[in-house]
Amino acid sequence: MTVKSDAFVFFGATGDLAYKQIFPALQALIRDEDFDLPIIGIARSGWDIEKLRERAKDSVTEHGGLDKRAFGKLVKLLRYVDGDYKQADTYQRLREMLGKAQHPLHYLAIPPSLFETVVKHLDQSGCATGARVVVEKPFGRDLASARELNRTLHRIFPEDAIFRIDHYLGKEAVQNLLYFRFANSFLEPLWNRTYIDSVQITMAESFGVQGRGSFYEEVGCLRDVVQNHMLQVLVLLAMDAPTSHDAEAMRSEKLRLLRAIRPLDPKEVVRGQFRGYRTEQGVAKNSQVETFAAMRLHIDTWRWQGVPFYIRAGKEMPVTCTEVFVDLKCPPLAVFDRIAPRDSNYFRFRLSPDVVISAGVRVKKPGEAMRGENVELIARAQPRRVRLPYARLLGDALRGNAELFGRDDGIEAAWRIIDPALNDAERVLQYNPGTWGPKAADELTAGEEGWHNPVVKKNGNGK
Ligand code: NDP
Repeated sequence: MTVKSDAFVFFGATGDLAYKQIFPALQALIRDEDFDLPIIGIARSGWDIEKLRERAKDSVTEHGGLDKRAFGKLVKLLRYVDGDYKQADTYQRLREMLGKAQHPLHYLAIPPSLFETVVKHLDQSGCATGARVVVEKPFGRDLASARELNRTLHRIFPEDAIFRIDHYLGKEAVQNLLYFRFANSFLEPLWNRTYIDSVQITMAESFGVQGRGSFYEEVGCLRDVVQNHMLQVLVLLAMDAPTSHDAEAMRSEKLRLLRAIRPLDPKEVVRGQFRGYRTEQGVAKNSQVETFAAMRLHIDTWRWQGVPFYIRAGKEMPVTCTEVFVDLKCPPLAVFDRIAPRDSNYFRFRLSPDVVISAGVRVKKPGEAMRGENVELIARAQPRRVRLPYARLLGDALRGNAELFGRDDGIEAAWRIIDPALNDAERVLQYNPGTWGPKAADELTAGEEGWHNPVVKKNGNGK
């Protein structure tokens, strides 16, 4: 039987991620799942527990709202250890604070450069024994460093105690994509190269780096969202059905698909940078870091041979939205009116800000003539507020359920695909904020009559 964790330790307690995600997720876990474990935050700001409680209060107030009862309990469970991650005595104090806990879960919400230091100290101080570790993204900077990080973690933790987080997998919309694919038999005959023309995934953000220029300089769009979030979405769209809902069956099936994706050809990748990025604080004046990337991918399987998969992600785009378009092939003959092929015959998955699953079809317009119009059949349209992905994922990690977390081989397979495009020597193309990126990105999809640009309406799901 899988053991439940008996303490939640989070490194990076004073950081941005803790503020935006971890405190709200903890409050939600207390409210919805009777979470009742010691919560130990660690950072080096010279704070005390009162300051951390204030921070927690501001965090939940700003992100979703304060739930009086749940927050009251969060305050009681919260502890704080102040200390540098590079110093052994920090971990001695953590060990004392853990008291009788035998199976703590250590959440590394810290700069990736510190992962190794922290896990080594956890080991030396005895805090790693019987423990789990959650590692934030990015997991490595490329294939070689991801392999090295896996080796480091494996020296201390067994694979089933390592939870590589990609919060995209915890999103309601992403879960629904997986569910929709494998809970409906009508899709299977269509879901292949015979009926599907191409697939597009767009992740657009209408904002820039939001003061986190120095962080972004180290990462860039490909590492920040493509190697992880976008490839995960692609995998869910393209994988074969797993034999069961078991975590390992699911992860093995994903791995099979990842291994069938051809490593990127730099000629099929466009890197862009929005004008104004280089004047952001912490950004080099001649920075070549991409804030936009678009690419064409190929999957070498019987199901997908010859079907292009496109990914596009960027900052300072016209809208904030993540959407998938699965374009079906046109009917072989125009028996009735001629139609613009891409306005119907598709599936659309809106992953954020709201959740939509729909199919674009043609129906006859009422009247004498055999003329048609496009309509969308909506299978699911859900408002913006749904369960917090971090609450789902942290709950799963505490229970030892690894289904929604990256496995060592899967992470390495994803880097293998991205690696050839990481060569920053290739110049980035500038684009104006508020546009869909450099013009060269449009050439990638020329064979498909261009990109589907998501539309976001104020009170609706767009389209
Ligand atoms: P921040 O820089 O905001 O926070 C880093 C945290 O680590 C702070 O609490 C800081 O403490 C602590 N820290 C850093 N160095 C030391 C040290 N030597 N000793 C003790 N404490 C130290 O980072 P983020 O919260 O933004 O990111 C954390 C991780 O989460 C990263 O891996 C990032 O890639 C990932 N992530 C972040 C997201 C976000 O939205 N922020 C989204 C997805 C992933 P102090 O303040 O005291 O220096």
